[in-house]
Amino acid sequence: MTAYRHKKSLGQHFLHDPGYLARIVTAIRPAADDLMVEIGPGQGALTRPLLEKLDHLHVVEIDRDLVAHLSQAFPPERLTIHTADALKFDFASLGTPLRVVGNLPYNISSPLLFHLADYAGKIKDLHFMLQKEVVNRMAAAPDTPDYGRLSVMLQARFQVMKLFNVPPGAFNPPPKVDSAVVRLVPLSVEAIPYRDAERFAEIVARAFGQRRKTLRNTLKGLVEPEAFAALSIDPQRRGETLSVEEFSRLANR
Ligand code: SAM
Repeated sequence: MTAYRHKKSLGQHFLHDPGYLARIVTAIRPAADDLMVEIGPGQGALTRPLLEKLDHLHVVEIDRDLVAHLSQAFPPERLTIHTADALKFDFASLGTPLRVVGNLPYNISSPLLFHLADYAGKIKDLHFMLQKEVVNRMAAAPDTPDYGRLSVMLQARFQVMKLFNVPPGAFNPPPKVDSAVVRLVPLSVEAIPYRDAERFAEIVARAFGQRRKTLRNTLKGLVEPEAFAALSIDPQRRGETLSVEEFSRLANR
């Protein structure tokens, strides 16, 4: 595929460094009979070494030019290609327990993570290459500069582990940013700290909507002033200082 022109709008940066590809596959530890889906296979840089370990792999790719290439390169009994937008794809249709991997298009990483969080109950684990800053935000602890809505929403559903950084030179064309590989493992139902997902999401969104304001202001109308005292949470604090557990306490009341 030498004549292929990368589509910037689809975040196409293809991995070509064999050392990093090997590290990613080692981190994923594919077993032959795993039920696995790769998001954004591109020209198959990761697909190929994964298929050396797996009997079968699903891929979700939006670019028809790349789909044509993939369908030539891999036999259909080994690779099932879903020509689709991963943001709208029904991951439950593939079965369970599903393993999800991908060197993701960075321009849609946050909405894609929120979309996948809806399937957490059906997923065994997820391994993603993302912009390093996004991985730092996903894994951030309370009261640190990277901590925000993405950290709280993901850590309430998943154990988030940053694995290693990957430099721009590992890709063709090289992106302008550093990348990192992250592992997400869904929490068991008993370990999810909130009772009502919608209410939890609303409180977190409001608390981080105006980062510099106190909880008393950002949660006005949503949490009664008396509730703060009953939950031992100071209403003068800002949302960015609250742990996932404290957000859950507010939502569960
Ligand atoms: N996995 C390949 C690699 O590592 O070389 C390609 C990674 S490239 C960063 C991202 C891939 O995601 C591209 O193949 C791109 O066409 C695809 N893509 C972009 N937006 C997508 C979407 N909404 N749904 C599915 N695939 C998408």
